Amino acid sequence: MIIAIANQKGGVGKTTTAINLAAAFSLRGQRTLLVDLDPQANSTMSYVDVATVERSVYEAITDPAVAIQDIVRPSSQPNLWVAPSRIALAKLEGKLSGELDSHFRLKDKLAPIAKDYEAIVIDCPPALGLLTVNALVAATHLLIPIQSSYFALEGTDDLLETIEKVRMRANTNLRILGVVITMHDKRTALAKDIRAQIDKVFGKKVFKTVITKSVRLEESPAYKESIFKFAPESSGATEYYRLCEEVLDRV
Ligand code: ATP
Ligand code: MG
Repeated sequence: MIIAIANQKGGVGKTTTAINLAAAFSLRGQRTLLVDLDPQANSTMSYVDVATVERSVYEAITDPAVAIQDIVRPSSQPNLWVAPSRIALAKLEGKLSGELDSHFRLKDKLAPIAKDYEAIVIDCPPALGLLTVNALVAATHLLIPIQSSYFALEGTDDLLETIEKVRMRANTNLRILGVVITMHDKRTALAKDIRAQIDKVFGKKVFKTVITKSVRLEESPAYKESIFKFAPESSGATEYYRLCEEVLDRV
């Protein structure tokens, strides 16, 4: 199972979902690889000291001599490994322009190691460019985080269009696993309205588990720990664990 976490809208909870969902898989004893495809390297920073990253997904994708296993690093958590990003990834589009296989680079690199992991989670950047397309082509499943905000659904048409394009040729097996609502504030009437809007568009695809706003979730990456280690009793820990169970029910 290779799950891409994508939404081209910035700051909607992609990275928070990727790092904690990956941690939840690993807690359940599944060998898990977190692939950071965002040049901002936020997922990487959550588990690895970026100053020590010399080779990243960029090298693996652009250099035929570099395998994913050459760049993979252990995290502080058992069963969890990270394929780190570096700012160099921002150059990928230019570097691969004109290459006929540019959309398939990540898929081809993951193919030989896909069996070594029970779960691979890919954190995407906030854009629908070549990096996100590489993730959608490599993935078996897609998970879309949507922030509980007034502009929640802005841009989802473009995202769905890109998914359809990928499904037509490059990855006919890609399945939309579901939509997870993030940073939800149960107390407000607006949040209820937003929930209703999202349900209207995505119906059964919306996960029952909603991720509420939580300071603990915001803090945990700074301590290089998942929410399960940093604040195991917090709402964020419970919710991401439940989301993981729902995900496993759907795959
Ligand atoms: P980008 O598009 O820049 O990659 P993103 O979609 O990966 O952003 P995150 O980095 O996960 O989004 O979240 C954006 C900000 O919101 C971060 O500061 C994060 O700590 C915070 N955040 C995410 N989820 C929650 C939550 N449930 N409660 C409170 N803060 C949250
Ligand atoms: Mg991010």
